Amino acid sequence: MNIHEYQGKQLLKRYGVPVRPGKVAFTVDEAVTAAESMEAGLYVVKAQIHAGGRGKGGGVKLARSIDEVRTHASNILGMQLVTHQTGPQGQKVQRIYIENGVDIARELYVGMTLDRERSQVALMASTEGGVDIEEVAEHSPEKIFKEWIDPGVGLTGFQATRVAYKLGFSGRTARAVSKLLGGLYTCFIDNDCSIVEINPFVETPTGEVYALDAKINFDDNALYRHKDIFELRDIDEEDPLEVRAKAFDLSYVKLDGNVGCMVNGAGLAMATMDILKHVGVEPANFLDVGGGATEDKVTEAFKILVDDGVDAIFVNIFGGIMKCDVIANGVVAAAKAVGLNVPLIVRLEGTNVELGKKILAESGLTITSADSMLDGAQKAATAVRG
Ligand code: GDP
Ligand code: MG
Repeated sequence: MNIHEYQGKQLLKRYGVPVRPGKVAFTVDEAVTAAESMEAGLYVVKAQIHAGGRGKGGGVKLARSIDEVRTHASNILGMQLVTHQTGPQGQKVQRIYIENGVDIARELYVGMTLDRERSQVALMASTEGGVDIEEVAEHSPEKIFKEWIDPGVGLTGFQATRVAYKLGFSGRTARAVSKLLGGLYTCFIDNDCSIVEINPFVETPTGEVYALDAKINFDDNALYRHKDIFELRDIDEEDPLEVRAKAFDLSYVKLDGNVGCMVNGAGLAMATMDILKHVGVEPANFLDVGGGATEDKVTEAFKILVDDGVDAIFVNIFGGIMKCDVIANGVVAAAKAVGLNVPLIVRLEGTNVELGKKILAESGLTITSADSMLDGAQKAATAVRG
């Protein structure tokens, strides 16, 4: 799960990470009131969407007066903000963050994420903050310093200081940076984060450091023990079909292709996407209805695929714990309920497979039955090619 910058900063503040005073606003008036409550001088008006790269897309503006805050706020609120992470359709800005800005001497980068190969959190830092860190990683990887953090020990003072020095800090400011890094790590662990990224954190001309941006992602599997975090969810920022899938506990990820897939088991779902690509067509989604899918779940899965506008649906189910006849009944009921209007290819295997196939054949629906995964994928490919 992803949260907004302002929510991330509120969280980081609790861990002693220095952030600037700021307020979220949903209207231009709220933005103006927020700015009026701050120290005069520099204000930053920032679009709150979950995608990064807002500055380049025109979603982050500096203001020197309340009038400028008003102008930027009315331009940004409601805009369809396009960044390299939103896709060409952009994302509608529904909230903005008004922050008391600072003068910047240096923009730096720090990020933490789980390194699955080492089973440790990796801390990455660079003096090349503010720009696309992916580009730095690709063209000048030597400019990114890394520290791996032992989960039993945590981020040591030695490691934090070493990073601060490598970033060119010394004395009092180095100590402030070490403290900032410690706060980030504690926040990461306490909240089961998957990413904590500050790009940029800055040094001011007077030697203070601040986190000026905050991107925090959480491990969905751990959210059950972080109710306060879960409440920060903003479903306006999520794909509406994925929101519906979540409500029915379906593992669904929307993709770019046009063959809708309905599969039980994550491994089989992956294999199904592979075999579709193998026969030269593209899957429209990853969808795992789970081992014990009910008729309700199967029906909702069908509705999602239909609403996604797929050109064919490939059902690939292995009847293990669940029997093929039960699945066949679910598929038939769902197809009838949603008024299916695209070719439906079904491959069943496992317990009671013959009975399952009989139910499909006698359903009165136009269902193409497949004998193997490859056969099903080829039939789906033929169907979408017309
Ligand atoms: P992003 O484009 O979505 O990553 O948004 P950021 O929050 O990182 O802001 C983009 C850029 O705006 C930063 O890299 C800074 O250069 C600039 N910026 C943000 N806050 C301030 C501020 O308080 N003062 C100044 N001078 N620039 C700022
Ligand atoms: Mg940024």
